[in-house]
Amino acid sequence: MQRFVILMYHMISEPKTAAEIKYACPPKQFEQHLQMLLSSGFKPISINAIEDYYLHQTPLPDKAFLISFDDGFEDNYSNAFPILQRYKIPAVIYLATGSIGKTNQWMSKLTFSERKMLTWTQIKDMASQGIDFGSHTVSHPRLTELDDGDVSKELIKSKQLIEDQLGIECRHFAYPYGLLTEKTSELVQQAGFKTACSTRSGFNNTERNPLILHRIEVYGDDSTWKLKLKIRFGMNDASWFFPLKYYSARLLSRLG
Ligand SMILES: [Zn+2]
Repeated sequence: MQRFVILMYHMISEPKTAAEIKYACPPKQFEQHLQMLLSSGFKPISINAIEDYYLHQTPLPDKAFLISFDDGFEDNYSNAFPILQRYKIPAVIYLATGSIGKTNQWMSKLTFSERKMLTWTQIKDMASQGIDFGSHTVSHPRLTELDDGDVSKELIKSKQLIEDQLGIECRHFAYPYGLLTEKTSELVQQAGFKTACSTRSGFNNTERNPLILHRIEVYGDDSTWKLKLKIRFGMNDASWFFPLKYYSARLLSRLG
């Protein structure tokens, strides 16, 4: 059965602290990831192609992948965007709209470094050149801790702002922290979103609910072969398989 993967990134920068390693992928590493994907025969697709796949049964290419970024960090423009353009790879950026033009305030409680977020000027520039934008709520809350009315407000306000600013319908969403209940996904649908990304790991196929898409989380220190393994097995943490690499390398060297 045809399946595709959605890769999840956050910052494309050198990590400033150990805590950031999981979320900050150095630009050079990011470029190597893309080179590996293309040279391994993976085909880049957009979030709109995924929407069409679920809503209109429009087929996707074999080995399709989507690049997604959560939160809307400024480095998505300054570091990731030029690389994506160089390789003609589309992407979707999920914006926490309350932080646009500001910093990652919601992360400061978690002792993360302060980082700049995208501005509307940067977002509009990318939107006119093949990058899609989705909502990631206004204030990046844990949606499972809010009552339904407040969840809907977070969804509708952020969707509306993106539509007002970009002049196009905002049909895509990503759950902050990947947290959701069945009810949350219903509210996402009622707000008018057609696709929504979770942080559950694994592949997607026709049987997947387009409002609970799965993703592979890419860490800043994932080497290309590690990323390859993660995609191969549909896992965020493929470390269980890593010893195999050493065994096969030893075996190969013995045979060679
Ligand atoms: Zn987030």
